[in-house]
Amino acid sequence: MTSLGDLPLRDDLRGREPYGAPQLDVPYALNTNENPYPPSDRLVKALGEAVMDVAGTLNRYPDRDAVALRADLAAFLNADTPGAGLDGRRVWAANGSNEIIQQILQAFGGTGRTALGFEPSYSMHPIITGVSGTRWLNAFRDDDFGIDPVRAVAAIEGHQPDIVFLTSPNNPTGTALPPAVIEAVLDAAPGMVVVDEAYAEFRREGTPSALTLLDGRPRLIVTRTMSKAFAMAGTRLGYLAADPAVIDALLLVRLPYHLSAVTQAVARTALAHGAELLGGVEALRRDRDAIVAWLRAEGFRVADSDANFVLFGTFPDRHAVWEALLARGVLIREVGPPEWLRVSVGTPGEMDAFRTALTEALKEGL
Ligand SMILES: *Cc1c(COP(=O)(O)O)cnc(C)c1O
Repeated sequence: MTSLGDLPLRDDLRGREPYGAPQLDVPYALNTNENPYPPSDRLVKALGEAVMDVAGTLNRYPDRDAVALRADLAAFLNADTPGAGLDGRRVWAANGSNEIIQQILQAFGGTGRTALGFEPSYSMHPIITGVSGTRWLNAFRDDDFGIDPVRAVAAIEGHQPDIVFLTSPNNPTGTALPPAVIEAVLDAAPGMVVVDEAYAEFRREGTPSALTLLDGRPRLIVTRTMSKAFAMAGTRLGYLAADPAVIDALLLVRLPYHLSAVTQAVARTALAHGAELLGGVEALRRDRDAIVAWLRAEGFRVADSDANFVLFGTFPDRHAVWEALLARGVLIREVGPPEWLRVSVGTPGEMDAFRTALTEALKEGL
């Protein structure tokens, strides 16, 4: 049997573990923050027709620059954030926002460069950073999972990172950042600042998007995805908004024809049905607030959430709680600080199952 150790693998990859949120076949999957509402029959039909339309052209390469899709995404962002004033030249798309982040690191990171983030946060930021040969620096979040701007500025001035990652609302804590923090970071950072807004559509009333800060700030990149609120995780479509010069930089590193014709057609069809796809967001925000209130009433510590998941604790042995829930068919996520667990907001029926399973598990004295 050949093992990794026998192969001439890059030294800096030795000993690493692949990204591996468990993908288990369970009745209640509340572990990867997907939108629980599948496309309607009407949308399924429209998606099928869109794929049929491109099927006859699949002998040809797709539009390398995804011009029509980027224009549609810009229109969506302008509706999401009035005043954003975007057009397709300031929007870029790739196979999930993970690929967007990879392209950003390929263009602005690399050997001898550094990227700084504030953990606990999205685990893929340090992973993609490391794989790109960039060195990862962690400046911790505060005890309430926020980021104190004075401390953030000091960390940036001390390290002079080439890239800074801010996640808002943050995964796994749900914490949204006030624009003043993002502005302070932008003023201090010598390089690119990436605001990962994968959960932006779930933010509470009055929480602005970093899209409002783009004008006149060519080193700011705001990333978004269709995987979460947009209920299209299977499509693999992530995107960003930034200065057109940033997109010129990404064109240097992207693979030619990276976005398949099928992906582009499906994403455009989904965007055309955006109102329907985002129709579940209001209910998910309500159900999120309800699960936060319930967990607090049960005596748990719960992080304020602007996203479609909730971080709660604390458990001396969180793995035992995670297993007790799994034994009842409820899969949540062991992520974040050691004594905390994260549950995604599912349908009302799924949340009932979660509440029942957690109540039963705790009766076992966990
Ligand atoms: C889920 C998630 C993403 C989305 O990744 P995709 O590749 O677009 O599916 C990006 N950032 C954060 C913080 C996430 O939680």
